Amino acid sequence: MILPEKYQLLRKNFRNFAETEFTDELQKKLDIEGGYEAEMYHKMARYGFTGIKIPVEYGGQGGDSLAYVLMIEEFARVCPVLAIYANTPNSLGGGPLVMCGNEEQKKKYLPDIASGKKHIVFALTEPGAGSDAGGTLTTAVADGDDFILNGRKCFVSGAPIADYAIIYAKTDPSAKGSRGISMFIVDLKLPGVTIGKAEAKMGINGYPTSDITLDNVRVSKADLLGPLNDGFRMAMKTLDGGRLGISAQALGLAQGCREEAIRYAKERKQFGKPIAANQGVSFMIADMATEIEAARELIYQTAIAKDANSPDSSMKCAMSKYFASEMANRVAYKAVQIFGGYGYIKDYKVERFYRDARIMSIYEGTSQIQQLVIANTLLR
Ligand SMILES: Cc1cc2nc3c(=O)[nH]c(=O)nc-3n(C[C@H](O)[C@H](O)[C@H](O)COP(=O)(O)OP(=O)(O)OC[C@H]3O[C@@H](n4cnc5c(N)ncnc54)[C@H](O)[C@@H]3O)c2cc1C
Repeated sequence: MILPEKYQLLRKNFRNFAETEFTDELQKKLDIEGGYEAEMYHKMARYGFTGIKIPVEYGGQGGDSLAYVLMIEEFARVCPVLAIYANTPNSLGGGPLVMCGNEEQKKKYLPDIASGKKHIVFALTEPGAGSDAGGTLTTAVADGDDFILNGRKCFVSGAPIADYAIIYAKTDPSAKGSRGISMFIVDLKLPGVTIGKAEAKMGINGYPTSDITLDNVRVSKADLLGPLNDGFRMAMKTLDGGRLGISAQALGLAQGCREEAIRYAKERKQFGKPIAANQGVSFMIADMATEIEAARELIYQTAIAKDANSPDSSMKCAMSKYFASEMANRVAYKAVQIFGGYGYIKDYKVERFYRDARIMSIYEGTSQIQQLVIANTLLR
Protein backbone atom coordinates (compact mmCIF):
# COMPACT_ATOMS: atom_id res chain seq x y z
CA MET A 1 0.00 0.00 0.00
CA ILE A 2 1.31 3.45 -0.85
CA LEU A 3 0.80 5.39 2.36
CA PRO A 4 -0.56 8.95 2.30
CA GLU A 5 2.08 11.55 3.13
CA LYS A 6 0.83 12.03 6.71
CA TYR A 7 1.57 8.37 7.50
CA GLN A 8 4.91 8.43 5.69
CA LEU A 9 5.94 11.32 7.94
CA LEU A 10 4.72 9.51 11.02
CA ARG A 11 6.71 6.43 10.00
CA LYS A 12 9.81 8.57 9.59
CA ASN A 13 9.38 10.03 13.08
CA PHE A 14 8.85 6.62 14.69
CA ARG A 15 11.87 5.23 12.85
CA ASN A 16 14.08 8.16 13.88
CA PHE A 17 13.08 7.76 17.50
CA ALA A 18 13.73 4.01 17.54
CA GLU A 19 17.06 4.23 15.71
CA THR A 20 18.29 7.04 17.96
CA GLU A 21 17.01 5.90 21.33
CA PHE A 22 17.03 2.10 21.22
CA THR A 23 20.79 1.80 21.34
CA ASP A 24 22.50 -1.57 20.98
CA GLU A 25 23.82 -1.19 24.54
CA LEU A 26 20.32 -0.69 25.93
CA GLN A 27 18.94 -3.63 23.95
CA LYS A 28 21.72 -5.95 25.14
CA LYS A 29 21.32 -4.79 28.73
CA LEU A 30 17.58 -5.49 28.68
CA ASP A 31 18.09 -8.90 27.09
CA ILE A 32 20.76 -9.99 29.57
CA GLU A 33 19.53 -8.35 32.78
CA GLY A 34 15.78 -8.31 32.12
CA GLY A 35 14.17 -5.75 34.39
CA TYR A 36 12.58 -2.65 32.96
CA GLU A 37 13.82 0.67 31.58
CA ALA A 38 11.54 3.23 33.24
CA GLU A 39 13.43 6.16 31.72
CA MET A 40 12.66 4.89 28.20
CA TYR A 41 8.98 4.59 29.07
CA HIS A 42 8.92 8.20 30.26
CA LYS A 43 10.77 9.33 27.16
CA MET A 44 8.19 7.61 24.95
CA ALA A 45 5.48 9.32 26.98
CA ARG A 46 7.07 12.75 26.44
CA TYR A 47 6.89 12.15 22.68
CA GLY A 48 3.21 11.16 22.99
CA PHE A 49 3.77 7.53 22.02
CA THR A 50 2.16 6.04 25.16
CA GLY A 51 -1.05 7.88 24.30
CA ILE A 52 -1.09 7.61 20.54
CA LYS A 53 -4.52 5.93 20.48
CA ILE A 54 -5.93 7.65 23.56
CA PRO A 55 -8.39 10.42 22.63
CA VAL A 56 -7.10 14.00 22.77
CA GLU A 57 -9.66 15.04 25.40
CA TYR A 58 -8.06 12.55 27.81
CA GLY A 59 -4.50 13.63 27.16
CA GLY A 60 -3.64 11.34 24.22
CA GLN A 61 -2.85 11.94 20.57
CA GLY A 62 -6.15 10.61 19.19
CA GLY A 63 -4.34 8.65 16.48
CA ASP A 64 -5.95 5.94 14.38
CA SER A 65 -5.10 2.25 14.13
CA LEU A 66 -2.84 2.73 11.11
CA ALA A 67 -0.69 5.27 12.97
CA TYR A 68 -0.52 2.88 15.92
CA VAL A 69 0.47 -0.05 13.70
CA LEU A 70 3.23 2.01 12.07
CA MET A 71 4.59 2.97 15.48
CA ILE A 72 4.69 -0.63 16.75
CA GLU A 73 6.18 -1.86 13.46
CA GLU A 74 8.96 0.73 13.49
CA PHE A 75 9.77 0.22 17.17
CA ALA A 76 9.83 -3.59 16.82
CA ARG A 77 12.05 -3.35 13.73
CA VAL A 78 14.76 -2.10 16.08
CA CYS A 79 13.72 -3.71 19.38
CA PRO A 80 10.61 -5.89 19.83
CA VAL A 81 10.54 -5.58 23.61
CA LEU A 82 10.68 -1.80 23.60
CA ALA A 83 7.74 -1.84 21.18
CA ILE A 84 5.73 -3.39 24.04
CA TYR A 85 6.37 -0.30 26.17
CA ALA A 86 4.42 1.81 23.68
CA ASN A 87 1.92 -0.95 22.98
CA THR A 88 0.48 -1.70 26.44
CA PRO A 89 -0.98 1.73 27.32
CA ASN A 90 -2.59 2.03 23.88
CA SER A 91 -3.75 -1.53 23.55
CA LEU A 92 -4.60 -4.05 26.26
CA GLY A 93 -4.05 -1.63 29.16
CA GLY A 94 -5.69 1.60 28.04
CA GLY A 95 -7.93 0.03 25.37
CA PRO A 96 -10.67 -1.27 27.71
CA LEU A 97 -10.90 2.14 29.41
CA VAL A 98 -11.22 3.96 26.10
CA MET A 99 -13.80 1.44 24.90
CA CYS A 100 -15.91 0.95 28.03
CA GLY A 101 -14.99 3.57 30.63
CA ASN A 102 -17.61 6.03 31.85
CA GLU A 103 -16.71 9.72 31.84
CA GLU A 104 -15.51 9.67 35.45
CA GLN A 105 -13.27 6.65 34.87
CA LYS A 106 -11.81 8.07 31.67
CA LYS A 107 -11.02 11.39 33.37
CA LYS A 108 -9.56 9.67 36.39
CA TYR A 109 -7.29 7.17 34.64
CA LEU A 110 -6.57 7.99 31.01
CA PRO A 111 -4.56 11.25 31.33
CA ASP A 112 -2.05 9.60 33.68
CA ILE A 113 -1.77 6.58 31.37
CA ALA A 114 -1.24 8.76 28.29
CA SER A 115 1.38 10.87 30.06
CA GLY A 116 3.25 7.82 31.34
CA LYS A 117 2.70 8.72 35.02
CA LYS A 118 0.82 5.48 35.58
CA HIS A 119 1.15 2.06 34.04
CA ILE A 120 -1.84 -0.20 33.40
CA VAL A 121 -1.79 -3.86 32.36
CA PHE A 122 -4.25 -6.53 31.24
CA ALA A 123 -4.88 -9.62 33.36
CA LEU A 124 -7.12 -12.20 31.73
CA THR A 125 -5.10 -15.44 31.74
CA GLU A 126 -5.19 -17.79 34.73
CA PRO A 127 -3.27 -21.00 35.42
CA GLY A 128 -6.31 -23.06 34.34
CA ALA A 129 -7.73 -20.58 31.82
CA GLY A 130 -5.36 -19.74 28.97
CA SER A 131 -6.78 -20.37 25.50
CA ASP A 132 -10.06 -21.05 27.28
CA ALA A 133 -9.98 -17.59 28.84
CA GLY A 134 -13.72 -17.73 29.51
CA GLY A 135 -13.03 -20.45 32.09
CA THR A 136 -11.89 -17.83 34.59
CA LEU A 137 -12.04 -18.91 38.23
CA THR A 138 -11.33 -15.50 39.75
CA THR A 139 -14.45 -14.30 41.52
CA ALA A 140 -15.90 -10.90 42.38
CA VAL A 141 -18.68 -10.83 44.96
CA ALA A 142 -20.70 -7.67 45.63
CA ASP A 143 -20.40 -6.37 49.19
CA GLY A 144 -21.95 -2.97 49.95
CA ASP A 145 -20.21 -0.35 47.80
CA ASP A 146 -17.48 -2.78 46.81
CA PHE A 147 -16.71 -6.07 45.13
CA ILE A 148 -14.44 -8.58 46.89
CA LEU A 149 -12.04 -10.19 44.42
CA ASN A 150 -10.28 -13.54 44.88
CA GLY A 151 -8.18 -15.50 42.42
CA ARG A 152 -4.93 -15.71 40.55
CA LYS A 153 -3.95 -14.29 37.18
CA CYS A 154 -0.77 -15.45 35.49
CA PHE A 155 1.64 -14.32 32.74
CA VAL A 156 0.61 -10.69 33.14
CA SER A 157 2.96 -8.58 31.01
CA GLY A 158 4.15 -5.58 32.96
CA ALA A 159 2.56 -6.62 36.28
CA PRO A 160 5.73 -6.07 38.38
CA ILE A 161 5.96 -2.42 37.30
CA ALA A 162 2.26 -1.59 36.96
CA ASP A 163 0.02 0.68 39.01
CA TYR A 164 -3.27 -0.77 37.79
CA ALA A 165 -4.54 -3.92 36.12
CA ILE A 166 -7.69 -4.63 34.16
CA ILE A 167 -8.86 -7.80 35.90
CA TYR A 168 -11.56 -10.18 34.68
CA ALA A 169 -13.59 -12.00 37.31
CA LYS A 170 -16.75 -14.08 37.49
CA THR A 171 -19.58 -12.01 38.93
CA ASP A 172 -22.41 -14.45 38.15
CA PRO A 173 -21.39 -17.92 39.31
CA SER A 174 -24.60 -19.43 37.90
CA ALA A 175 -23.76 -18.29 34.34
CA LYS A 176 -22.20 -20.95 32.15
CA GLY A 177 -18.87 -20.73 30.30
CA SER A 178 -17.65 -17.27 29.44
CA ARG A 179 -20.91 -15.62 30.54
CA GLY A 180 -21.18 -13.75 33.84
CA ILE A 181 -17.65 -12.30 33.77
CA SER A 182 -17.00 -8.63 34.54
CA MET A 183 -14.10 -6.27 34.09
CA PHE A 184 -12.51 -4.27 36.93
CA ILE A 185 -9.86 -1.59 37.23
CA VAL A 186 -7.75 -2.78 40.14
CA ASP A 187 -5.22 -0.60 41.93
CA LEU A 188 -2.31 -2.96 42.50
CA LYS A 189 -1.44 -1.20 45.78
CA LEU A 190 -4.72 -2.36 47.36
CA PRO A 191 -4.46 -4.66 50.39
CA GLY A 192 -4.63 -8.33 49.36
CA VAL A 193 -2.86 -7.88 45.99
CA THR A 194 0.41 -9.81 45.62
CA ILE A 195 2.61 -9.48 42.56
CA GLY A 196 4.61 -12.62 41.80
CA LYS A 197 8.25 -13.00 40.87
CA ALA A 198 9.09 -12.01 37.30
CA GLU A 199 9.20 -15.10 35.06
CA ALA A 200 12.50 -16.09 33.44
CA LYS A 201 11.62 -15.93 29.73
CA MET A 202 13.05 -17.16 26.44
CA GLY A 203 12.78 -13.72 24.86
CA ILE A 204 11.26 -10.25 25.07
CA ASN A 205 13.40 -9.69 28.15
CA GLY A 206 13.15 -6.19 29.57
CA TYR A 207 9.43 -6.08 30.21
CA PRO A 208 8.66 -8.26 33.23
CA THR A 209 5.83 -10.81 33.30
CA SER A 210 4.36 -12.22 36.51
CA ASP A 211 1.36 -13.51 38.45
CA ILE A 212 -1.13 -11.31 40.26
CA THR A 213 -2.80 -12.93 43.26
CA LEU A 214 -5.96 -11.44 44.72
CA ASP A 215 -6.83 -12.33 48.29
CA ASN A 216 -10.07 -10.68 49.43
CA VAL A 217 -9.25 -7.49 47.53
CA ARG A 218 -11.89 -4.84 48.08
CA VAL A 219 -12.52 -2.98 44.81
CA SER A 220 -14.96 -0.07 44.73
CA LYS A 221 -18.06 -0.51 42.55
CA ALA A 222 -16.92 2.71 40.86
CA ASP A 223 -14.13 0.61 39.35
CA LEU A 224 -16.39 -1.88 37.61
CA LEU A 225 -15.52 -1.24 33.97
CA GLY A 226 -18.24 -1.65 31.37
CA PRO A 227 -21.47 -3.57 31.87
CA LEU A 228 -21.82 -6.09 34.71
CA ASN A 229 -21.50 -9.69 33.48
CA ASP A 230 -20.46 -8.67 29.94
CA GLY A 231 -16.71 -8.53 30.51
CA PHE A 232 -15.72 -11.46 28.33
CA ARG A 233 -17.19 -9.88 25.21
CA MET A 234 -15.29 -6.69 26.07
CA ALA A 235 -12.08 -8.72 26.52
CA MET A 236 -12.51 -10.20 23.06
CA LYS A 237 -13.06 -6.75 21.55
CA THR A 238 -9.96 -5.49 23.36
CA LEU A 239 -8.01 -8.43 21.96
CA ASP A 240 -8.95 -7.44 18.39
CA GLY A 241 -6.88 -4.29 18.83
CA GLY A 242 -4.24 -6.18 20.78
CA ARG A 243 -3.85 -8.73 18.00
CA LEU A 244 -3.35 -5.98 15.49
CA GLY A 245 -0.57 -4.65 17.71
CA ILE A 246 1.11 -8.09 17.90
CA SER A 247 0.85 -8.37 14.10
CA ALA A 248 2.69 -5.07 13.80
CA GLN A 249 5.28 -6.21 16.33
CA ALA A 250 5.85 -9.40 14.30
CA LEU A 251 6.02 -7.40 11.07
CA GLY A 252 8.62 -5.03 12.49
CA LEU A 253 10.71 -7.88 13.86
CA ALA A 254 10.62 -9.63 10.46
CA GLN A 255 11.64 -6.41 8.71
CA GLY A 256 14.57 -6.09 11.13
CA CYS A 257 15.60 -9.69 10.32
CA ARG A 258 15.36 -9.03 6.60
CA GLU A 259 17.62 -5.98 6.80
CA GLU A 260 20.19 -7.79 8.97
CA ALA A 261 20.17 -10.81 6.64
CA ILE A 262 20.62 -8.78 3.44
CA ARG A 263 23.48 -6.76 4.91
CA TYR A 264 25.24 -9.88 6.16
CA ALA A 265 24.67 -11.91 2.97
CA LYS A 266 26.38 -9.18 0.95
CA GLU A 267 29.30 -8.85 3.39
CA ARG A 268 30.07 -12.44 4.29
CA LYS A 269 32.33 -14.22 1.82
CA GLN A 270 32.69 -17.98 1.41
CA PHE A 271 34.19 -19.82 -1.57
CA GLY A 272 35.62 -16.47 -2.69
CA LYS A 273 32.30 -14.64 -3.13
CA PRO A 274 29.56 -13.09 -0.99
CA ILE A 275 27.14 -15.76 0.27
CA ALA A 276 24.33 -13.66 -1.33
CA ALA A 277 25.69 -14.74 -4.73
CA ASN A 278 24.42 -18.26 -4.03
CA GLN A 279 20.88 -18.87 -5.18
CA GLY A 280 20.27 -20.96 -2.06
CA VAL A 281 20.83 -17.83 0.04
CA SER A 282 19.27 -15.25 -2.26
CA PHE A 283 16.07 -17.28 -2.56
CA MET A 284 15.73 -17.32 1.23
CA ILE A 285 15.90 -13.52 1.11
CA ALA A 286 13.31 -13.42 -1.68
CA ASP A 287 10.98 -15.59 0.41
CA MET A 288 11.48 -13.45 3.50
CA ALA A 289 10.74 -10.23 1.63
CA THR A 290 7.67 -11.64 -0.13
CA GLU A 291 6.10 -12.86 3.10
CA ILE A 292 6.83 -9.57 4.84
CA GLU A 293 5.15 -7.59 2.05
CA ALA A 294 2.09 -9.86 2.18
CA ALA A 295 1.82 -9.41 5.96
CA ARG A 296 2.24 -5.64 5.67
CA GLU A 297 -0.63 -5.33 3.17
CA LEU A 298 -2.90 -7.50 5.33
CA ILE A 299 -2.08 -5.60 8.53
CA TYR A 300 -2.52 -2.10 7.08
CA GLN A 301 -5.80 -3.10 5.42
CA THR A 302 -6.97 -4.60 8.72
CA ALA A 303 -6.12 -1.40 10.61
CA ILE A 304 -8.26 0.58 8.16
CA ALA A 305 -11.08 -1.99 8.27
CA LYS A 306 -11.08 -1.94 12.07
CA ASP A 307 -11.43 1.85 12.27
CA ALA A 308 -14.22 1.68 9.69
CA ASN A 309 -16.03 -0.87 11.93
CA SER A 310 -16.07 -3.31 9.05
CA PRO A 311 -18.09 -6.42 10.04
CA ASP A 312 -15.18 -8.74 9.26
CA SER A 313 -12.57 -6.73 11.19
CA SER A 314 -12.37 -9.17 14.16
CA MET A 315 -11.61 -11.98 11.74
CA LYS A 316 -9.06 -9.82 9.93
CA CYS A 317 -7.34 -9.01 13.24
CA ALA A 318 -7.08 -12.76 13.88
CA MET A 319 -5.82 -13.36 10.32
CA SER A 320 -3.22 -10.62 10.68
CA LYS A 321 -1.92 -11.99 13.96
CA TYR A 322 -1.94 -15.58 12.72
CA PHE A 323 -0.17 -14.82 9.47
CA ALA A 324 2.29 -12.21 10.75
CA SER A 325 3.38 -14.12 13.86
CA GLU A 326 3.97 -17.38 11.98
CA MET A 327 5.67 -15.40 9.20
CA ALA A 328 7.98 -13.68 11.71
CA ASN A 329 9.07 -17.07 13.03
CA ARG A 330 9.82 -18.34 9.51
CA VAL A 331 11.70 -15.15 8.67
CA ALA A 332 13.71 -15.17 11.91
CA TYR A 333 14.61 -18.82 11.28
CA LYS A 334 15.94 -17.94 7.81
CA ALA A 335 17.82 -14.91 9.13
CA VAL A 336 19.66 -17.12 11.65
CA GLN A 337 20.33 -19.63 8.85
CA ILE A 338 21.88 -16.92 6.67
CA PHE A 339 24.14 -15.87 9.55
CA GLY A 340 25.29 -19.49 9.96
CA GLY A 341 27.10 -20.13 13.26
CA TYR A 342 27.24 -16.41 13.99
CA GLY A 343 23.45 -16.34 14.03
CA TYR A 344 23.58 -18.61 17.06
CA ILE A 345 25.82 -16.22 18.98
CA LYS A 346 24.33 -13.54 21.21
CA ASP A 347 26.53 -10.79 19.77
CA TYR A 348 24.40 -10.91 16.63
CA LYS A 349 20.96 -9.35 16.69
CA VAL A 350 19.23 -12.11 14.73
CA GLU A 351 19.82 -14.48 17.65
CA ARG A 352 17.64 -12.25 19.83
CA PHE A 353 15.06 -11.66 17.08
CA TYR A 354 14.73 -15.44 16.76
CA ARG A 355 13.95 -15.84 20.48
CA ASP A 356 11.72 -12.75 20.58
CA ALA A 357 9.66 -14.03 17.63
CA ARG A 358 8.61 -17.16 19.46
CA ILE A 359 6.11 -15.51 21.80
CA MET A 360 4.21 -13.83 18.98
CA SER A 361 2.33 -16.95 17.94
CA ILE A 362 1.46 -17.61 21.60
CA TYR A 363 0.39 -14.49 23.50
CA GLU A 364 -2.93 -12.72 22.93
CA GLY A 365 -4.24 -16.04 21.65
CA THR A 366 -2.15 -18.81 20.11
CA SER A 367 -2.12 -19.42 16.36
CA GLN A 368 -4.59 -22.25 16.89
CA ILE A 369 -6.99 -19.87 18.65
CA GLN A 370 -6.66 -17.41 15.74
CA GLN A 371 -7.50 -20.28 13.38
CA LEU A 372 -10.55 -21.00 15.54
CA VAL A 373 -11.70 -17.37 15.38
CA ILE A 374 -11.23 -17.29 11.60
CA ALA A 375 -12.95 -20.64 11.01
CA ASN A 376 -15.84 -19.87 13.38
CA THR A 377 -16.48 -16.59 11.55
CA LEU A 378 -16.43 -18.23 8.14
CA LEU A 379 -18.54 -21.20 9.14
CA ARG A 380 -21.22 -19.58 11.28
C1 LIG B 1 5.48 -13.72 27.88
C2 LIG B 1 4.00 -13.83 28.02
C3 LIG B 1 3.24 -12.68 28.18
C4 LIG B 1 1.85 -12.77 28.33
N1 LIG B 1 1.14 -11.63 28.61
C5 LIG B 1 -0.16 -11.74 28.97
C6 LIG B 1 -0.87 -10.60 29.49
O1 LIG B 1 -0.34 -9.48 29.54
N2 LIG B 1 -2.15 -10.78 29.92
C7 LIG B 1 -2.77 -11.98 29.86
O2 LIG B 1 -3.92 -12.07 30.27
N3 LIG B 1 -2.13 -13.08 29.38
C8 LIG B 1 -0.83 -12.99 28.95
N4 LIG B 1 -0.15 -14.09 28.49
C9 LIG B 1 -0.85 -15.37 28.42
C10 LIG B 1 -1.06 -15.87 27.00
O3 LIG B 1 -2.04 -15.11 26.34
C11 LIG B 1 -1.40 -17.37 27.09
O4 LIG B 1 -0.21 -18.04 27.47
C12 LIG B 1 -1.96 -17.92 25.80
O5 LIG B 1 -3.23 -17.37 25.55
C13 LIG B 1 -2.06 -19.45 25.82
O6 LIG B 1 -2.61 -19.94 27.00
P1 LIG B 1 -1.86 -21.13 27.78
O7 LIG B 1 -0.45 -20.71 27.95
O8 LIG B 1 -2.63 -21.46 28.99
O9 LIG B 1 -1.85 -22.35 26.77
P2 LIG B 1 -3.02 -23.44 26.58
O10 LIG B 1 -4.33 -22.79 26.46
O11 LIG B 1 -2.86 -24.48 27.63
O12 LIG B 1 -2.63 -24.06 25.18
C14 LIG B 1 -1.63 -25.05 25.03
C15 LIG B 1 -1.65 -25.52 23.56
O13 LIG B 1 -2.92 -26.08 23.25
C16 LIG B 1 -3.48 -25.44 22.11
N5 LIG B 1 -4.93 -25.36 22.25
C17 LIG B 1 -5.65 -25.01 23.35
N6 LIG B 1 -6.97 -25.04 23.07
C18 LIG B 1 -7.08 -25.38 21.76
C19 LIG B 1 -8.18 -25.55 20.87
N7 LIG B 1 -9.43 -25.37 21.27
N8 LIG B 1 -7.91 -25.93 19.60
C20 LIG B 1 -6.64 -26.10 19.17
N9 LIG B 1 -5.56 -25.95 19.97
C21 LIG B 1 -5.78 -25.58 21.25
C22 LIG B 1 -2.85 -24.04 22.10
O14 LIG B 1 -2.88 -23.46 20.83
C23 LIG B 1 -1.42 -24.37 22.57
O15 LIG B 1 -0.70 -24.82 21.48
C24 LIG B 1 1.22 -14.02 28.27
C25 LIG B 1 1.99 -15.17 28.09
C26 LIG B 1 3.35 -15.10 27.97
C27 LIG B 1 4.15 -16.36 27.84
